[in-house]
Amino acid sequence: MSTIDNLPPLSQVIRDHDLQARKSLGQNFLLDLNLTAKIARQAGDLTQCDVLEIGPGPGGLTRGLLSEGARRVLAIEKDTRCMPALAEIAAAYPDRLQLINGDALEVDPLAHLIPPIRVAANLPYNIGTELLVRWLTPPQWPPFWQSLTLMFQREVAERIVAQPGSKAYGRLALLAQWRADAKIVINLPPEAFTPPPKVSSAVVHLTALPEPRFPADAATLSRTVAAAFNQRRKMLRASLKGTAPDIEDRLLAAGIKPTDRAEQISLEGFCALAREIAKP
Ligand code: SAM
Repeated sequence: MSTIDNLPPLSQVIRDHDLQARKSLGQNFLLDLNLTAKIARQAGDLTQCDVLEIGPGPGGLTRGLLSEGARRVLAIEKDTRCMPALAEIAAAYPDRLQLINGDALEVDPLAHLIPPIRVAANLPYNIGTELLVRWLTPPQWPPFWQSLTLMFQREVAERIVAQPGSKAYGRLALLAQWRADAKIVINLPPEAFTPPPKVSSAVVHLTALPEPRFPADAATLSRTVAAAFNQRRKMLRASLKGTAPDIEDRLLAAGIKPTDRAEQISLEGFCALAREIAKP
């Protein structure tokens, strides 16, 4: 029996269900249920919330979320081999765990969730950034989620919370910090996972702001930032040449020197520039 519920320890679950980790699915499992409960606690008070979990695997974080009192968990897992193990958790927490065997990039979870909704996941690294960008760039704001509590490679986590002037500062920092508060809440060494990945990891907690920090059109901001950081060593008048024929004038109107480089520009500066670029 485990420390947090009446289910078997995760090492036994993996043995019983023959869940050999597959690299192609980004499978690095967390087997310490005290750690998964600690990650679940970082997601905030779950008792009144539905929680969306991507990639539950053998169910370590799922059990953490449920034992910490989540009202309901919707877990989307691509690996069919994990479903019997997850079904045992669903049986131990009647009516509180819904399982979908599918690809998180294809499934629309909203049909199955009742607000307020929080997202918590030890993400497969190959789709983590893509999912985060999707969750940060919906057409409407506020988004469907109140908070995101997500495991990333340490280097990606640092890009999310990075400040201007740092090497890690770029599109991810700007998209995250424009409409959310983002902070690293737990750092984890490779040995926390089975099998251990090559790099360290970190849990990032993002809370959705009711409104963006500065006004801007989401698509224009996203496009401008992507172009600026695509050639981050170049001056903005060169890297943004393709965004508008009179880009130098628009940069000046936004209070930005055309000779500046992308990593020198604050979030407020990029939002001002996106507003200038959106003008006819
Ligand atoms: N949550 C578990 C844990 O903490 O031990 C497993 C985390 S493991 C890093 C990532 C999980 O995501 C694996 O179970 C993998 O099968 C699953 N996965 C990979 N690609 C997926 C996808 N496109 N959609 C849903 N799940 C996926």
